[in-house]
Amino acid sequence: MSPPEQSAVVEVERIKAASRRLRGTIADGLRDEATGAIADADTQLTKFHGIYQQDDRDLRNERQQQRLEPAHSFMVRVRVPGGVCSAPQWLALDRLAREHANGTLRLTTRQAFQFHGVIKRRLKPTITAINGALLDTIAACGDVNRNVMSSPNPQLSALHQETWQIACRISERLTPRTRAYHEIWLDGERLPDSGAEDEPLYGPTYLPRKFKIGVAVPPWNDVDVYTQDLGFIAVSEQGRLAGFNVTVGGGMGATHGEPDTYPRLGDVVGFCTPAQAVDVAWHVVAIQRDCGDRTNRKHARFKYTIADRGLEWFGAELAARLGFALQPAREFRFLGVGDRYGWSKGLDGRWHLTLHVPSGRLADTPGHTLLSGMRDLAQMHGGRFRLTPNQNVIVAGVREADKRRIEAVARRHGLMHDQLPSALRREALSCVALPTCALAMAEAERYLPELVGRLETRLAALGLLDEPITLRVTGCPNGCARPYVAEIGLVGKGPGRYNLFLGGGFSGERLNRMLLENADETEILAALEPLLAAYALERLSGEHFGDFLHRSDRLSGSSGAERRQP
Ligand code: SF4
Repeated sequence: MSPPEQSAVVEVERIKAASRRLRGTIADGLRDEATGAIADADTQLTKFHGIYQQDDRDLRNERQQQRLEPAHSFMVRVRVPGGVCSAPQWLALDRLAREHANGTLRLTTRQAFQFHGVIKRRLKPTITAINGALLDTIAACGDVNRNVMSSPNPQLSALHQETWQIACRISERLTPRTRAYHEIWLDGERLPDSGAEDEPLYGPTYLPRKFKIGVAVPPWNDVDVYTQDLGFIAVSEQGRLAGFNVTVGGGMGATHGEPDTYPRLGDVVGFCTPAQAVDVAWHVVAIQRDCGDRTNRKHARFKYTIADRGLEWFGAELAARLGFALQPAREFRFLGVGDRYGWSKGLDGRWHLTLHVPSGRLADTPGHTLLSGMRDLAQMHGGRFRLTPNQNVIVAGVREADKRRIEAVARRHGLMHDQLPSALRREALSCVALPTCALAMAEAERYLPELVGRLETRLAALGLLDEPITLRVTGCPNGCARPYVAEIGLVGKGPGRYNLFLGGGFSGERLNRMLLENADETEILAALEPLLAAYALERLSGEHFGDFLHRSDRLSGSSGAERRQP
């Protein structure tokens, strides 16, 4: 790969190229006690190490008036391929959340853990302890392949087990090779070639932007495979994994008021065998490394490469690099994007319990002890935990004899799904947004419970409390909680104001359409009420809300995300 033309390269490209394989001056910045921040250029590089610099936006104005620097702290994301971790690992992360972060642990929509509120002097001990638990944070953020997602019930079938193992192999093959992470955070030895070591996939400037991969196991599209840059959809024959349909070019991010940016669903482009999957992933990422737009970060995601150059070009390019063409795609069918709550039995006779975590936030607040509840479960359960793509967690591999006491603990701490008043609440997702995300324009996680409560009042009156409807709220158009495929999506526009999107596919197969722009809660509820009332009266048996809106032509006049695509 030749280095991009310097004249046209955006600032982040220069920072990456000059960083000596992601070192920059991070180590010096950590030693500087005069500030709680690190150098601006290094904030781009720490993302590759799984670390975002943030500040408490609730305090920003007050500190500005007092001429204090912002209340800086860091978000640390732990990479967990397929979301699988052990009980000892859970307990280690729980300890870190209490001792080094803000006393909460957040489960992300990419099956990773996040710590929030880690101050600078605690960063290194936190990363060291994470690695001590045999987990890491490298490539959890940054212009590289992120945490590889995988349908989270590997023990439910041989198929799940095989697909999770392939997800782990893809993750391993696509992890950056730089030793910067070990030098900076783990006191690794500085070798003579430090800063010039070989990065066989990424080269000196890594990717133009982040890259996301998910592996789905039909009939569940819980990983939202069409929103991934690269997706694998497992195909089974006689109960065994025959291979994967491959999707390319999905992505959620957009920018308000810039029609050249848009969410896009991935296209199914062919089929590969299990043995080919890792090579397919490697070469697709390499295509984006070489062909992605490095002159404009808003146009640098793989979805724009695919949209601009076309699927025919992509198929030929991939075949040339692989040395073979993908086979024609095979039949598959999805039934939904949500989790299967409650108990389910695995192949080995063990049981799995899917618990509900609102917005993925495990915290102890008056009357709600979700963090402690999960700690209690990890202490009594020696097996594994699986994070789901819907911000929930599965207690995996429970013996029949332990079911009752596991459920009793989960119920005592309010983690059981049947303790929730509605299916809408079970299906709802939100991103973090305020107060920590620098990009948030409106509340998301802190607002979701209020919004759901108000909708539940209306759903109860309409007899719709048990109707699963997907609701996703984000604080900005970046779309971290995948709002553009939800049946009801709210995307932050300003304080208390959102763009309202409706009609996404229940299985994640269709983008929604924008019904209201810059609306407040009163306007949003007023728009939703008649649509929900019509749904209650006129829906067909088994018809989902998004499908109903389309069939009954309730969205004509709205502007579809897909309309903005060229
Ligand atoms: Fe932040 Fe926007 Fe992502 Fe929400 S969607 S976490 S506000 S970047």
